[in-house]
Amino acid sequence: MAKKTDDKMDRLVSLCKRRGYVFPSSEIYGGLNSCWDYGPLGAELKRNIKTFWWEAMTARRDDVEGLDAAILMHPQVWVTSGHVAEFHDPLVDCRQCKARFRADEVAGKTRCPKCGNETLTEARQFNLMFKTFMGPVEDSTAVVYMRPETAQGIYVNFLNVKNSSRQKVPFGIAQIGKAFRNEITPGNFIFRTREFEQMEMQYFIHPSEDDKWFEYWREQRWNWYMELGIRKEKIRWHEHGQGELAHYAKKAYDIEYEFPFGWKELEGVHNRTDFDLSRHQQATGKDLGYMDDKYKDKFIPYIIETSAGCDRTLLTVLVDAYDEDPSRGDKSTVLRLSPKIAPIKAAVFPLVNKDGMPEIAEKIYHDLKKKFKVFYDDGGSVGRRYARMDEAGCPFCITIDGQTKEDDTVTIRDRDSMVQTRHKIGELEGIIAERMK
Ligand code: ATP
Repeated sequence: MAKKTDDKMDRLVSLCKRRGYVFPSSEIYGGLNSCWDYGPLGAELKRNIKTFWWEAMTARRDDVEGLDAAILMHPQVWVTSGHVAEFHDPLVDCRQCKARFRADEVAGKTRCPKCGNETLTEARQFNLMFKTFMGPVEDSTAVVYMRPETAQGIYVNFLNVKNSSRQKVPFGIAQIGKAFRNEITPGNFIFRTREFEQMEMQYFIHPSEDDKWFEYWREQRWNWYMELGIRKEKIRWHEHGQGELAHYAKKAYDIEYEFPFGWKELEGVHNRTDFDLSRHQQATGKDLGYMDDKYKDKFIPYIIETSAGCDRTLLTVLVDAYDEDPSRGDKSTVLRLSPKIAPIKAAVFPLVNKDGMPEIAEKIYHDLKKKFKVFYDDGGSVGRRYARMDEAGCPFCITIDGQTKEDDTVTIRDRDSMVQTRHKIGELEGIIAERMK
């Protein structure tokens, strides 16, 4: 039985472990700081979020192509992009207890927040890129970086994608993939980790149209979170002021979510101007300019970037869906995940394990399994089975009872309203598909 704590995040973390959403990495060895593994339900949920993003951002669009670039890239890419010189966080150490802080966390403080001594060092710059070596010799000529963002894989493939897909500006390239940052203070569960997945799209445009496309993509991305089922009052825009803007950005907005630990960034929408392609053109000597019948002048495309974190989105949907509903009695936790992304779409229960009910239930289960991820459960009282499914975020429970043999009907119990309705077995597939829309 999970320990009850006052902290909603603690209870969510405990639910994630209990139901198989997220486990600490290498747990039987004591875990590895800030690394997490997705369990059976977490892996499904993550896959569903990625599919939902991929479909909205590329598969259902004519103007965005997909890409899956390698994590390891030519090391010069990171020099050109500015990451070797500038991808730093200022780091402050405590000489006494050896704790480390990002400088902004201890700004204005003279004492260490951990041990209380006046033993904080001056800030020093710390590069966030992970380094490794390619090939058998571990010297400086063999250094390669684990990419800290997926975007550069897109920029260096601009010509390849444009030429092979015959896209014309404006068009975009979308990619989902792992990124690595040696964060000084990871934490808040999967919010900030050192290994994470990004969902990024870079849209190449004529410089004169940057405001139009920037606003267009802001609207698209906001709507995506709405379609994902995130509560509107829990998200907001944050515009980067002059002091906050990254060196490459002309304009930047973050979409923020109100987590139990405060308003935090979910995704950035940036106008990166022609910074990236100009730099890569200069470094490689390759012509990354663009011209066609529509735009007679030759130009380096501007880029509007939408950069979201997959793990952060997953945390957001879990936090947003997590609810404790006392009207459900002792077992009160319910994950109100949108049916679009819920890992299990429906559960099938025989009311009792006799009178022909299991046979009918198994047939329904096997038929539905061809279309959706469904779960069969015949253990314990129906109330307990509903409670388990509520906690797992399963939106619909189908129960086969005494009436089923008489008229071929079953009940569907809705997770959120707890209302049960009767339907013909033959209608089940259509009803679930409809409610998933
Ligand atoms: P933050 O200010 O939170 O460090 P950032 O501004 O550095 O984020 P970007 O470089 O714009 O983030 O990355 C785009 C997205 O990638 C972020 O909005 C976030 O969703 C995700 N992301 C970035 N760093 C991490 C991390 N360490 N762990 C999990 N997700 C991350």
